[in-house]
Amino acid sequence: MRAFLPFMLRAGLTALVAANTACAQVAPQMANAGVKPNIVIVATGGTIAGAGATTANSATYQAAKVPVDKLIAGIPELNDVANVRGEQTFQIASESFTNDRLLQLGKRVSALVKEPGVDGVVVTHGTDTLEETSFFLNLVVHTDKPIVVVGSMRPGTAMSADGMLNLYNAVVLAGTPSARGKGVLVEMNDDILTGRDAAKRINIKTNAFASAWGPLGMVVENKVYWFRAPVKRHTMQSEFDIDMLTTLPEVQIVYGSGNMAVEMYDAAVKAGAKAIINAGVGNGSVPNYAVDTLKKIRAGGVHVVRSSRVADGFVIRNSEQPDDQYDWVVAHDLNPQKAKILAALALTRTNSTAELQRMFWEY
Ligand code: ASP
Repeated sequence: MRAFLPFMLRAGLTALVAANTACAQVAPQMANAGVKPNIVIVATGGTIAGAGATTANSATYQAAKVPVDKLIAGIPELNDVANVRGEQTFQIASESFTNDRLLQLGKRVSALVKEPGVDGVVVTHGTDTLEETSFFLNLVVHTDKPIVVVGSMRPGTAMSADGMLNLYNAVVLAGTPSARGKGVLVEMNDDILTGRDAAKRINIKTNAFASAWGPLGMVVENKVYWFRAPVKRHTMQSEFDIDMLTTLPEVQIVYGSGNMAVEMYDAAVKAGAKAIINAGVGNGSVPNYAVDTLKKIRAGGVHVVRSSRVADGFVIRNSEQPDDQYDWVVAHDLNPQKAKILAALALTRTNSTAELQRMFWEY
């Protein structure tokens, strides 16, 4: 009972507020004129489904507790903007996502967007690996229907919980015709970000997600405002297809730092990595005492992808390291965890360095 206190308090206020704002309502944009869009909420867990012991617990709580039907029931306003149904695909904290979970989720979303009666899909997700999943879906689901990934930084039981508005905005966005063909989107804190480069930048506050290149737009009071569009290949134009995938090759990240142990790279190979993402310092740099190790690893058939531990900017090919000579790849502006997703998908199609590099430029 206590877990849903804020939802209940809110519900009590709804009638009061409705009376005062009825004339100020902005008509929602709908999939078909005068008809509400059909949106499926695919729930996977996370803080948006979390519950804490008290309303003061904004950061200490259990993720993945509240079932999707309860989340939907807690936001009656969803009925004003869409016909919504929920599916509990799994109920986990997103740090526990594995490749198998990614594939399972991707296949389910792909099946849903193929249904003629579905206009858009919202995926509720923990924020910790939301950036991996949103990029993965962006690369493998062939559809122009909106797919919106959403999470929250505070559980629904906390004061100023952000999940309800985030989810409401995500449903509005998923049901908006102008969101079609823009790839997988992330809706958090009113911002619309592309699933390609949305990343968690702050691990406490509600403005946790950002892209180095800025948001695509915003959702405010039922309306979607666009300011830019993605230019990289995604969804319909992608050469990766979830329906053809049954497994993903192993890729691991090695984090660069001063005085790093080069054995970390060897450990990644030992763990079965077919590519190593170098989360290098600065411009994806590799210490002089690690170059030979990485050259040997490449000669052994494992790919080396230079990304950076720096949140913004991008790694420049043949700068800092002679990538052509060493047969290495640069991750462009993709952070290490995004690069890991693309490298795994790329390796399902090719083992050529030139092809891998092409994919890192294009996606
Ligand atoms: N650990 C949680 C998760 O990713 C954090 C969150 O959702 O904000 O599932």
